[in-house]
Amino acid sequence: MAGFLKVLFRNLLEGPSTDPFPLGETFTPARLRGRAKVDPTICMGCGVCRHVCAAGAINITHLPDDSGYTITIWQNSCCLCASCRHYCPTGAMSISDDWHSAHPEKEKFDRLEQHTIKYEPCAHCGTLMRPIPAHLAQRLYAKNPDIDPELIRHLCPKCRQIEDAKRNACLLPSPSEEKPEERVTSATPTKE
Ligand code: SF4
Ligand code: SF4
Repeated sequence: MAGFLKVLFRNLLEGPSTDPFPLGETFTPARLRGRAKVDPTICMGCGVCRHVCAAGAINITHLPDDSGYTITIWQNSCCLCASCRHYCPTGAMSISDDWHSAHPEKEKFDRLEQHTIKYEPCAHCGTLMRPIPAHLAQRLYAKNPDIDPELIRHLCPKCRQIEDAKRNACLLPSPSEEKPEERVTSATPTKE
C-alpha cells in the first residue's frame, strides 16, 4: 500500500507523461516520415519515383498539348516508404515531417500533392525539355572549368551531347600532331 501511494503521489506531482494531443500540441520525432512532397522547380519528369513506388501512389501525365506534365502523389495510397526520395536523381522528392493525416472519408480523394510543370525550350534547338537543376549541373560539370553549368543546363540532352563532342574534338591531337604508329584505322590488319 505504501508503494502504491508513493507512485500515486509522484505521478500527481509530475503530471501526465503523455501529450494532450489532439486537444493540445505534441512533438514530432526526429526522422519521422510524413507527407511525401515534390519540389516542382527541380523535378525533371523522369518518372523514376513513379517506377519505384510500390504503392502506386505516384502518377505522371503529359499535358494534352505536350507543353509539360502533371505529377500527382495520392497521399491516401502512400505507405511512407521513402523509396521515391531515395531514388529521385534530382532531390525533388522529399518526405516531410507533416504527419497530420487524419481526415474525413469524403476527403480521401482530395489528399494529394499535385504540380503541373511546364517544359522549357532548349537554348540551342528549341526542343521542349526540363532544364537540369542548377545544383546538379554544378556537380556534374565540377571537373570541367571551361563549361558554364548555367548555360549547359538549359540545353536538351542531344545538344549537350553535341557540345561534349565538340569539346572532346578540341582536346584530341590534330592528325599532324599524331605519331604515325599511333594512327589506328579500320584498315589496320589484325593478327589472326
Ligand atoms: S520527383 Fe524526382 S524521380 Fe520523380 S519525376 Fe521528378 S525528378 Fe524524377
Ligand atoms: S513514400 Fe513510398 S509509397 Fe509514398 S509516394 Fe514515395 S515511393 Fe510511393
